[in-house]
Amino acid sequence: MTSTDCVDVIGVGFGPANLSLAIALQEETPRTTAAFLEAETDPIWQGGMLLDGSDMQNHPNRDLVTLRNPRSHYTFLNYLFEQGRLIEHLNLPMEFPLRKEYAHYIRWATDQFREQVGFGVRVNDIAVGDVDGAPGYVVTGSDGTRRYGRSLVLGTGRTPFVPSPFDTIDSPRVAHLTRYLPTVQRLAQDPPRTIAVIGGSQSAVEIVLDLAARFPHTRIIDYVRSFGLPLKDTSPFSEEGFFPGFTDYYYRANRSGKDTLDAYMRPTNYSSIDADVLHELYALIYEQRLDGDQRVFVLGNRQVRAVEDEGTSVRLEVEEVHTHEVVTERADLVVLATGFRDLGPRPHQEPYPALLAGVIDRFQFDTDGYLITEPDYRLRSLMDGTPPLFLNGLCESTHGIGDAGSFSLLSLRAATIIDGLRKEGIA
Ligand SMILES: Cc1cc2nc3c(=O)[nH]c(=O)nc-3n(C[C@H](O)[C@H](O)[C@H](O)COP(=O)(O)OP(=O)(O)OC[C@H]3O[C@@H](n4cnc5c(N)ncnc54)[C@H](O)[C@@H]3O)c2cc1C
Repeated sequence: MTSTDCVDVIGVGFGPANLSLAIALQEETPRTTAAFLEAETDPIWQGGMLLDGSDMQNHPNRDLVTLRNPRSHYTFLNYLFEQGRLIEHLNLPMEFPLRKEYAHYIRWATDQFREQVGFGVRVNDIAVGDVDGAPGYVVTGSDGTRRYGRSLVLGTGRTPFVPSPFDTIDSPRVAHLTRYLPTVQRLAQDPPRTIAVIGGSQSAVEIVLDLAARFPHTRIIDYVRSFGLPLKDTSPFSEEGFFPGFTDYYYRANRSGKDTLDAYMRPTNYSSIDADVLHELYALIYEQRLDGDQRVFVLGNRQVRAVEDEGTSVRLEVEEVHTHEVVTERADLVVLATGFRDLGPRPHQEPYPALLAGVIDRFQFDTDGYLITEPDYRLRSLMDGTPPLFLNGLCESTHGIGDAGSFSLLSLRAATIIDGLRKEGIA
């Protein structure tokens, strides 16, 4: 192959993380060549959960670019301006924009990079090979075509977390939140009698409210492991966990320090709920009880111990974790609002992104079993001749709360990765 077939940066996934990187490359180092592969033909940001009325969880100006370059063409504000909606948007009586509007913004930015992206190509394999006499990445897509890069940036988003016992069954009646909308849209003609939602997250509450409006006669039960549904920690002091200074601080902490910081930071983004939807849900249940017609239930201290697909329904054995009483419930649909996996050796984690299986032996793990990721998101290699490989949006266990589950630091992370590419003489 000739060098014209090989780009400087090959990106896998074209969600917000690698889109933000593409913008940064264009603005900061336009001579660097880049190509991206995206599994979806028409990606929609978190499309499985684009619920009517749902709003963003972060300040809209912490967008694809603003923290890195507030003068960029690709700011959320400029998007609104170009759509002729700026003044109406600024007049909205909402603290945060609709997620739908943010999805439109991301689509608008994505459309401006179409020629750099192979849409509808799922990457199946990543290998290191000889590319023009030097080591490079050889990336094989679902279309059978191979692409080549002098460096690789993995921006595939985190793997959905499917907890036990749901990981033992493969049933169309059990769906992770990432498939929520297509799953319930199929049920419109034949509303389910009972739906179980598993989890106590923001998504769980949004899903319960959506189900209650969509299927007004359906029994909806949210099983939560803790006592109840806690409020999100929105203290501005805690929100400093989404500052770049926190990323550096967290990175330097040892594993036990990281655990302590995680325990403090988790309620800012995980297993906690924004006041607006939490209060809406509580009031809904109260009103249903007042009417003597309760159909929505939040059952705390519950753990699903066993699950079986019986064909027409799913049988759940649910234990009250303190009294150990077990009840059997049958649901027509189970929605897992159970979040995503971080990288690491623990039961809820995965040791490395599965896509890296073919090259993982080239990279180093620390004594705790975590993949060593440098401050600039590059994996630390064990072997000479390993071209640079960066993780973009997968590093919460090494870089802290602001890394994977949020937009907040995307744009600055793109700049950090470009600095890393520069060090390698690639950008
Ligand atoms: C329901 C929900 C709501 C959220 N709301 C907010 C919010 O309000 N504010 C906030 O800050 N964050 C929010 N988040 C966090 C969210 O993770 C980030 O906002 C953002 O989507 C992360 O971008 P990403 O590019 O890292 O990952 P993703 O958005 O997951 O994008 C990854 C892309 O890679 C593609 N891909 C995956 N595997 C392959 C492959 N093998 N080959 C090719 N392409 C592949 C996928 O199709 C996808 O397009 C939310 C998350 C969820 C699930």
